[in-house]
Amino acid sequence: MGGMRLAAVLGLVLGGGAGLVGACRERAQAVQSGSELKQVVQQMLPAVERATGLRFKHPPVVQRRTRAQVRDYVMHKFDSDLPTAELTGAQAAYRLFGLLPDTLDLRATLVALYTEQVAGYFDPDSATLYVAADVDSPLVRMTVSHELIHALQAQYLNLDSVLQQKRHNDRRAAAQAILEGQATLAQILVMMPEQQTEGLPSFWETRKVFRTQMAQMREYAHAPLWLRETLIFPYLAGADFVRWFDGRYPGRQPFDAAMPVSTEQILHPDRYSVRHNPMVLAFTGSDGGVRYEDDLGEFEIRLLFEQLLGDTAEAEAPQLASGWHGDRYRVLPAGERQDALVWYTVWSDATTAARFARGLERAWAHRWGAPGLGGGGGGGGGGGHRTPIADRPAHDRRQSRRAAGGRAGGLGRLAGDSAGAGNAMTVQTPTRIPPTR
Ligand SMILES: [Zn+2]
Repeated sequence: MGGMRLAAVLGLVLGGGAGLVGACRERAQAVQSGSELKQVVQQMLPAVERATGLRFKHPPVVQRRTRAQVRDYVMHKFDSDLPTAELTGAQAAYRLFGLLPDTLDLRATLVALYTEQVAGYFDPDSATLYVAADVDSPLVRMTVSHELIHALQAQYLNLDSVLQQKRHNDRRAAAQAILEGQATLAQILVMMPEQQTEGLPSFWETRKVFRTQMAQMREYAHAPLWLRETLIFPYLAGADFVRWFDGRYPGRQPFDAAMPVSTEQILHPDRYSVRHNPMVLAFTGSDGGVRYEDDLGEFEIRLLFEQLLGDTAEAEAPQLASGWHGDRYRVLPAGERQDALVWYTVWSDATTAARFARGLERAWAHRWGAPGLGGGGGGGGGGGHRTPIADRPAHDRRQSRRAAGGRAGGLGRLAGDSAGAGNAMTVQTPTRIPPTR
């Protein structure tokens, strides 16, 4: 969702990154003054160009910022990038999915999380990279090297247009993974020029180490799984993808037309290499009254299962989400203080569609109680009825469309871009959910 695009603009340097480049700590010297900072930048430029294969068209500007100024910037970006309606719409959607607790204030949580996490940021508007003044001097070099890569990317890409693709959550997450993945990977090369990136373990596989390190950060430790995991995804999964890309297409950049279009492609580069693109879905008919609309994508569907399925979820979730071929949801008002979630998903074949549908039934039972029984939902928050409509997902596309179209009250019909649809199946997940408060 929107917070993700903010993260990229800020260019977080995750605390966990210290683990990967920990060896540099000893070499780092104190960087206190602004002129020392400028010197660090100057010395680093050739290494940044080597690591990325891109040349600076003009030199970057660098400045230090107090923690209070960093916080002001975060608030400002929120107000300009995420209008209240967008944020409350996303919040409603993720609450309905069960990915956010009913009581969580998304804006406050994101602001606190980013303020805590940000060591520096690159501001595309002023083309300036900022380093927080309270960042330890060993971290300064790491921060500068990371932000310099964003500064370089901004000279070749319009970062705002890439990261502010509204209502294309999955596509935006893929783009962000490219930007952060390249910054993470190149940052390591800048800090440790002798390092062969092929020799490093899978970044994604190191996320348990990250989690442990990040758990020391108060806001992060208390954030819901969905926020924690979507925060680190672009850095780790992105770095794996960019490393794969560099090996597969040496000398090329994963920008513009070469930009991956889904988290499925980030997670499974072989599907990127054959341009296995998701089916583009769109609701047809009136969107009057729609509170929010977007997609989840393969990665967030993984998180959905991970969040809702309990103990075995982490091992099971990747399989349940695999075979994803597109999705689209709407949050609709369903009466007095009620929201409804209508979600269409498309799968590569009947097997993956059925596997997902069975998994989702179990997941929904955790979230909302057993179908037809009502109550007993695990999502936290207030009481009230929690009886989802217990329709079984329709496994026939025509049937499910009819079901959607036949639902009075403008729930809308779904149209799919037929390109690449193949034997795709539509699993409709009709879920009318009573109020969450
Ligand atoms: Zn970054």
